[in-house]
Amino acid sequence: MSRKLRTKAAVLPQGTGPIQFWEWDVPLPAPGCLNVEVVLGGVCGTEHHLVRRESEFPVAFVLGHEGVGRIVELADDVKTDHAGVTVSIGDLVYWRPMSPCYRCFACTVDADFASCIDATSWLSPANQPTWATFNTISTLKATNHFFKIKSDCPPEAVIALGCALPTILQGMERVGGITFGSSVAIQGAGPLGLAAIMQASLAGASKIIIIEKHAIRLEMALRFGATHAIDMLKTPSISERLSKIKEITAEAGVDLVVEASGSMSAFEEGVPLLARNGRYLLPGTWAGEGRAGISPFEVCRKAVKIVGTSYGSPKHYYHAMKLAETYHNRFPLVECITHRLPLLEVGKALELVVQGQAIKVVIVPPL
Ligand SMILES: [Zn+2]
Ligand SMILES: [Zn+2]
Repeated sequence: MSRKLRTKAAVLPQGTGPIQFWEWDVPLPAPGCLNVEVVLGGVCGTEHHLVRRESEFPVAFVLGHEGVGRIVELADDVKTDHAGVTVSIGDLVYWRPMSPCYRCFACTVDADFASCIDATSWLSPANQPTWATFNTISTLKATNHFFKIKSDCPPEAVIALGCALPTILQGMERVGGITFGSSVAIQGAGPLGLAAIMQASLAGASKIIIIEKHAIRLEMALRFGATHAIDMLKTPSISERLSKIKEITAEAGVDLVVEASGSMSAFEEGVPLLARNGRYLLPGTWAGEGRAGISPFEVCRKAVKIVGTSYGSPKHYYHAMKLAETYHNRFPLVECITHRLPLLEVGKALELVVQGQAIKVVIVPPL
């Protein structure tokens, strides 16, 4: 029987140079693996930082790390997803991009799969199929955790908060969760900020304050459950924004700040917003370098806790998908998809994300 399965991929070459488009034949899935036709490739702000070469990487690699796809080929031994649900050809799945090695200290002793030192972060497409999502066919290995999406859940609801919701779920675990009735401020209402608002809303926070400059994102933040909006264009000074937060919280400051903009100036602004014993979660400053000025005296006197976090473990991807399945009618997840572009326009898609005029941009077929 003849079989021909080719993939086309947006590849970032090693060193320098713009995005290239490569094509190659996709092999039959090896034991434990499956081939998936990408249905929606989510565009995350991190991709833009990579394309701008703000982080170094050792090989050329396929862009895209958020995906929903349809199973097109399964190895004979793959009968279920990683939650034990039976799968077959045609099912829609959502997957965690990197594979933990299950051999390093982080995997074995800390059970912290997001910190695995040997995860398959950078895979050269010249050597092997990849889990990446800005390609027409992705190949998931046995350790690429994937989960079947229920047929009554729109795939857009799952990709809307792509890697952002798993990242926030892990972050909330690290920072100790959101207390019922507490106050939360979120800096930035992109997918990461919206995921944080969703969590604050579900946890029963009494005050959920969004700080953002783009009107489209402010409006969506309110629809996700933000109780107060601080428009940075109308309130351009940091001291004015601090005054507003003090006003909203009766001078106390907020119990939790989530930095979801990736901006260093936001980080400097965040600590003064905190109440005594406040906590500051940093999931946004992954890509890039720099130093910011905060007062260690203020951190000490207010007994502030600053917690960094990045990625999510396999369980956070599972829980993110379950949240999308359960709450896609309560939160306007599907409406977060503001732009759909084909693969060849991936450069434009990345620009849209950083310009802030989009909420979620996805790469769609025909890729
Ligand atoms: Zn991401
Ligand atoms: Zn590991």
